[in-house]
Amino acid sequence: MENKFDVIIAGAGPAGTATAIVLGKAGLSVALLDKATFPRDKTCGDALSVDVINQLKVLTPSVFDNFQDLSPKTSSYGVQIFAPDGRHVDIPFIYKKEKRCGYICTRWNFDNFLVQQLREFSSVKFYQNCEVTGIQKDQNKIQLNTTHGYFSAPIVVGADGAHSVIAKRLMNAKPDKEHSSAGLRVYYEGVTGFHQENFIELHFFEEVLPGYLWIFPLPDGKANVGIGMLSSTVSKKKINLKDSLNKLLTTHPKFSERFKNAKPLETIKGYGLPLGSKKRPLSGDRFLLTGDAASLIDPFSGEGIANAIRSGRIAANHILECFQKNDFTKSFNERYDKEIYNRLWKELKLSRTLQQLCKYPSLFNFVVKKANQSKQVHQLLIDSLAHIDKKKSLVHPAFYYRLLFGRNSQH
Ligand SMILES: Cc1cc2nc3c(=O)[nH]c(=O)nc-3n(C[C@H](O)[C@H](O)[C@H](O)COP(=O)(O)OP(=O)(O)OC[C@H]3O[C@@H](n4cnc5c(N)ncnc54)[C@H](O)[C@@H]3O)c2cc1C
Repeated sequence: MENKFDVIIAGAGPAGTATAIVLGKAGLSVALLDKATFPRDKTCGDALSVDVINQLKVLTPSVFDNFQDLSPKTSSYGVQIFAPDGRHVDIPFIYKKEKRCGYICTRWNFDNFLVQQLREFSSVKFYQNCEVTGIQKDQNKIQLNTTHGYFSAPIVVGADGAHSVIAKRLMNAKPDKEHSSAGLRVYYEGVTGFHQENFIELHFFEEVLPGYLWIFPLPDGKANVGIGMLSSTVSKKKINLKDSLNKLLTTHPKFSERFKNAKPLETIKGYGLPLGSKKRPLSGDRFLLTGDAASLIDPFSGEGIANAIRSGRIAANHILECFQKNDFTKSFNERYDKEIYNRLWKELKLSRTLQQLCKYPSLFNFVVKKANQSKQVHQLLIDSLAHIDKKKSLVHPAFYYRLLFGRNSQH
């Protein structure tokens, strides 16, 4: 038997649920398929940036309102960046002089919260434990083979994450080590010494550049601890990331006191981060890719949830146009690619440059040292989290020239 819908979405992470919410609001019949049964774990740092919260607001006000009540989650008001030489700088989340808040919330809870929002939309049918195993296309429809039988529609959205079957089969996508990172996560309890406003911590070490070790405070005395590093460097330097993480946590003097009574709550889990540091085709005849399937993770910070939601919403709006024009062709769908890169490319490119600059530990040490000495430099780091134009100056040679030779006001 074939299940017929207007749209099929493969994958119910943030990208897939965002797409389903916008299409459900418009009343299209949607099949949302996921191989997992929810709630499910997703290896992640669990940090929901201010941008994620903004994306929830844009998606639909009710999702944002319901998110306020979601519990448990930790409110976090900034980030602490630790340079390879051990110095650190605190960067509060401030936008237009107002304090902002991000959250740390396990993906178990956050992704389950998102799929629950679909209850509001009766035209969306959610199939769990339903794995996409094959794809066929003909002139009038696209058909997915799944563990729940056949599904067909005029258009399919690939929201099936870093190892997307849709991207592999329809785009011949292959892993690209120069544009992906390897990531490991382990939940802990009993880690001490967090910032009083729950700042997330990024620790940069010479041996894992470009990349960092993170420690994010979760509710109930737990913490999300992990490490991420550019895959090509991991291969080139033959780094065993698991060993690096264990070694840093158990032997580095700055962690010994904080982890004295800490216990890991699981074995270390690993997953890939497809980075948006290279432009790629994101669509074709009768399909669009979103989120990690489209490789939209920020190459510097490793954040991907906001762009997953953003691309899901943009994909859904494009699909509504496809139905209006009755056009599902590759050439029409290229408008989606353009829209995505018009909105994201400047920022992704800047982050790629920052990621490359991070290869130089002395430069990193120098910027953090200057940020502690100069109000202007510190303010620039604060502003660069919220404004792309300020972030731009961080990759401009003139910035480093001024740091070296300019006079900066003291704190
Ligand atoms: C170690 C690590 C740490 C990270 N930390 C952060 C962070 O702190 N903050 C942040 O913003 N981003 C972080 N990211 C990135 C973030 O996890 C991703 O960008 C985000 O999950 C992308 O959402 P998505 O919906 O595209 O894909 P996913 O969240 O991966 O969802 C894909 C869904 O598709 C389903 N699926 C897969 N294959 C199939 C199939 N064949 N059939 C049916 N269903 C299928 C999966 O079960 C899954 O539910 C991190 C990533 C890693 C690996």
